[in-house]
Amino acid sequence: MDYEAVIGLETHVQLKTRSKMWCGCANSFGAPPNSNVCPVCLGLPGVLPVANDEALRLTALTGLLLNCNIPPYAKFDRKNYFYPDMPKNYQITQYDKPSTVNGYVDFEFEGSLAQVRITRAHLEEDVGKNFHFDRNSGIDFNRAGVPLMEIVSEPDITSPAMAYEYLNALKDILTYGLVSDCDMEKGMVRCDVNVSIRPRHQKELGAKIEIKNMNTFSGVRKALEYEIPRQIEVLKSGGTLIQSTRRWDDATGTTEEMRTKEHAHDYRYFPEPDLMPFQPTEAWLEEVSRRVVELPLARKQRFMRDYHLPAPDAQTFVWDVPLGNYFEGIAKHAKNPKSAANWVINNLRGKMTESHTTLEELKFKPSAIPELIDLVDGGKISTRIAQEVFAEMFASGKAPSEIVAEKGLAQVSDTGAIEKFCDEAIAANPGSVTDYQAGKGAALNFLKGQVMKLSKGKANPALAGEILERKLKPGGAAVTQPLNQGQ
Ligand SMILES: [Zn+2]
Repeated sequence: MDYEAVIGLETHVQLKTRSKMWCGCANSFGAPPNSNVCPVCLGLPGVLPVANDEALRLTALTGLLLNCNIPPYAKFDRKNYFYPDMPKNYQITQYDKPSTVNGYVDFEFEGSLAQVRITRAHLEEDVGKNFHFDRNSGIDFNRAGVPLMEIVSEPDITSPAMAYEYLNALKDILTYGLVSDCDMEKGMVRCDVNVSIRPRHQKELGAKIEIKNMNTFSGVRKALEYEIPRQIEVLKSGGTLIQSTRRWDDATGTTEEMRTKEHAHDYRYFPEPDLMPFQPTEAWLEEVSRRVVELPLARKQRFMRDYHLPAPDAQTFVWDVPLGNYFEGIAKHAKNPKSAANWVINNLRGKMTESHTTLEELKFKPSAIPELIDLVDGGKISTRIAQEVFAEMFASGKAPSEIVAEKGLAQVSDTGAIEKFCDEAIAANPGSVTDYQAGKGAALNFLKGQVMKLSKGKANPALAGEILERKLKPGGAAVTQPLNQGQ
């Protein structure tokens, strides 16, 4: 029997706010343990939470970026459970009235467009962090109360690779929208994976198995690559799968069972009595909607459409936003945006990395790049010389035409001068001449290369090619015997 996987993801993302969700403590990573804490985020008795407005805004903004509806009424609830990293013994979250519902994410997958529907994106709080040492354990509460958004997808994902691409697309969107830094190293994005299998074409879903607390996207992919065949194997060998929670062990590359449905938590959700329900006004929503940005995929498609860029170039400008913006500033005025992209990606970026220069520190004006391209396209300089001019304008900030004039780099299009170089090349390479006349076309390129060398790169290559061809034609002026240059 043929099986298919049904995968849904719950992605937790720390929001980029200055302070925590219910108190004024800093939302920052890496401070000494328990230095960013107060009675509220330590869960001491008698304190009252005050909702962070920016976190509410970022959640609504995420809703807009993920094509969700923003319901007119949302509320917070208590999710009750006991765990040392959460001293209140409940987590404040949104249960049945979340801030955003019913959206979708479009992304590129295996050469076409894929879509995963979003059930909801709701707001909650992060918990502290347990550390286990040789003989004791410690808890750092700096993370307790950091605003955390949970984005729940519909089970629309069908493969480990698709899960991986969806997560990357989601991360790109949230980073673009300045919702979160999504720094995986700092644990800002964590995932729970729900995966079941069913015989292909069966409507009914199989037993849902959850893999908890994944903190890398490649880990999610690897866990699914292990878990799907495992489940199929269980069914094929006559076993049954039951709803359960598992943990991924990166070291062994396997998942292991933590608890089954019978031992599932009953969280006893109830409305948080210390917080008012949230009812966004039109003015508030209008303000949030002004923060909506162009999404990465839309940017890529626009760069391909408006500037005729190939997909990899457009993708480069999606990943490197400042470089893409710099390119766009040039491309709007360039006759040839495709070649402007080449210069920016292949030359400028390399030089900047090499010399640790930022875009703000560039000495030449952005208009210098289209000017350089015009010099090449107009036949004034060769592409080889253009490299030299570029290096000089990068170093000194001078305009390309100024450099060409100063250094005498203009291309030689004077037929007489090029003829002289051609004669020399022919005379010095009788073997290539014979080869060419025997039908080996490549020999012409070699001779052309020699002409360019003799002219120090300044000969107009097209003209050099024409002249060589004419001279080497039977009956042309070519010297088929080496010149006796010694006399
Ligand atoms: Zn606090």
